[in-house]
Amino acid sequence: MALYDQHLHSRFSVDSDTDPVENARQALSLGLAGLSITDHLDTHPTEWPICRYDYDGIAAAVAGLREQFGDRLFIGHGIEVCYQPEQMSRILPFVESHRFDIVLLSVHWFGGRALHVREHWDGLDAAAGTRAYLEAVLSAARFVLELKRQGRKPFDVLGHLDLVKRYTVRYFNTFEVRSQREIIDEILRTCLEAELVPEVNLSSLRQSLPEPMPADWVIRRYAELGGEAMTLGSDAHSPEHVGAHFKEGAAMLREGGIRRLAVFKDRCREDVDL
Ligand SMILES: [Zn+2]
Ligand SMILES: [Zn+2]
Repeated sequence: MALYDQHLHSRFSVDSDTDPVENARQALSLGLAGLSITDHLDTHPTEWPICRYDYDGIAAAVAGLREQFGDRLFIGHGIEVCYQPEQMSRILPFVESHRFDIVLLSVHWFGGRALHVREHWDGLDAAAGTRAYLEAVLSAARFVLELKRQGRKPFDVLGHLDLVKRYTVRYFNTFEVRSQREIIDEILRTCLEAELVPEVNLSSLRQSLPEPMPADWVIRRYAELGGEAMTLGSDAHSPEHVGAHFKEGAAMLREGGIRRLAVFKDRCREDVDL
């Protein structure tokens, strides 16, 4: 079974110190078939001073890794784009004018609030925050669908669909996504129509949650709606987390009716059997 970790970070992200070579060594030691480095493109104006996407630096690191490990491991150059509705006119030209293997679209901000800033949650409880977050995810998916109708395809994967639960656990000691089935359905349908592949992000399994993002019931629902393949991502920010929980994640996909892993190389999707 060929497993690819298509969501992980390196020292080119502001929240990671990892030398990319350490990520590759860990992937090799686990027997992964490949990894794609997806450092952050954070685009909220308050984050610009500290968050810069060093395309040339990452491209050089990827080229070095390919020389060193390319015969044993696929090394992808990816990016994790933070969805900011007001900034898309800056984001799209950047993404469309650079070469990537995979482009993730992730929602970290919702309605002007950052998930990771506690004060931004003022006035919200867990249920209201979860709802507002999923509405932002649906808007992101609809935005991608609208682009597709214009013949544009800048994004491949929707990152961590229900990341909000990690923060409701942190702030309110609870998470509840099942009551939002209808909007989850709408997100999944929009993804299918937009050809935006939802990721199963396994980072929550090593943090505070008993399930990945999204959970097994969402995977099953995606398969019921016609989804055939998803991606797996560790969202590692340090090398020991690369490929973490991947066997478990692959088993969960199979049990949910998803029998193939979507793998992106040079922006082309090829599905491999799980
Ligand atoms: Zn993210
Ligand atoms: Zn990430």
